[in-house]
Amino acid sequence: MATILDGKAHADRMLEEVRLRVEARAAAGQRLPGLAVVLVGEDPASQVYVRNKATACARVGVHSFEHRLPADTPQAVLDALIDRLNADPTVDGILVQLPLPGGLDSKRALHRISPAKDVDGFHPMNQGLLLEGLPGLRPCTPTACMSLLAHHGLALKGLRAVVLGRSEIVGKPMALMLLEQHATVTIAHSRTQDLPAVCREADLLVAAVGRPGLVEGSWIRPGAVVLDVGINRVQDLDLGARIFAAEPTKLANLQAKGAVLCGDVRFGEAMRVASAVTPVPGGVGPLTIAGLLTNTLWAAEQAEA
Ligand code: NAP
Repeated sequence: MATILDGKAHADRMLEEVRLRVEARAAAGQRLPGLAVVLVGEDPASQVYVRNKATACARVGVHSFEHRLPADTPQAVLDALIDRLNADPTVDGILVQLPLPGGLDSKRALHRISPAKDVDGFHPMNQGLLLEGLPGLRPCTPTACMSLLAHHGLALKGLRAVVLGRSEIVGKPMALMLLEQHATVTIAHSRTQDLPAVCREADLLVAAVGRPGLVEGSWIRPGAVVLDVGINRVQDLDLGARIFAAEPTKLANLQAKGAVLCGDVRFGEAMRVASAVTPVPGGVGPLTIAGLLTNTLWAAEQAEA
């Protein structure tokens, strides 16, 4: 049976490190870092994410500034708010919660955030720094995944890594970070031919696709390490019966509650083949906020450097 890579425990370690560094700043008379979160509209999932971010800020001593705007906010109003936050010396990080309501241009909003405060690491300037292997603000999820792998002592040099998914949020930056650590990286996506065979090449498989249970046990190389980034809500009983065949508890939960969260990987099947796997929930999910707070502290430190 594979080892379960406990993302929650690692997120706690990362957050504790941030908390201690923030505490040391306060003891040295430096101001607390500040994170501004902009939420436009009423998307229920986004509201939960924003609440979780505020809770994490409070836990580590980072100031959290919440800006809520109605769904029909014109782009010019959002632009003006971002400009104000860019100029505010108490704000070190700015996060515009995605997705934005239809009618708003998210690229335009993200590109308007000062690269020095772009704690999501989505600005082209920071993407360019990552491409060049230079320090900068890097996307939270892959940054935290790399931290998890480092904590577990996985030697990446020469390792064959397959990243499933090529988004700018997860897949592409993850591939660049693995490449930086000298892994041999393949990026797979919806047009990849013979996905199972490509995945079976991987000593390290990172799934960031958003398709529940896409990765079957037979796609996993025996002994591989599997990071499951996907977060999917499954409500369909037939689908559940297929993808949770090796996870009777999850299937029972689906039958009892009508919905369950799962990753892109069939966890129960992966546990029988891989050497280590992240679960969903409790794997990569909690790491992302820890990555965000780490970035916010870094931005505050850079602002004073
Ligand atoms: P995204 O922007 O929708 O990208 C999905 C990627 O998966 C695309 O590159 C797409 O290929 C590929 N893909 C889709 N269906 C496929 C298939 N059947 N076979 C092979 N590749 C396929 O998604 P994302 O933002 O990267 O997020 C991916 C998942 O991670 C989602 O479940 C999301 O909720 C989750 N996520 C979790 C965290 C966390 O904190 N743990 C953070 C971010 C995202 P094409 O490019 O060819 O379309």
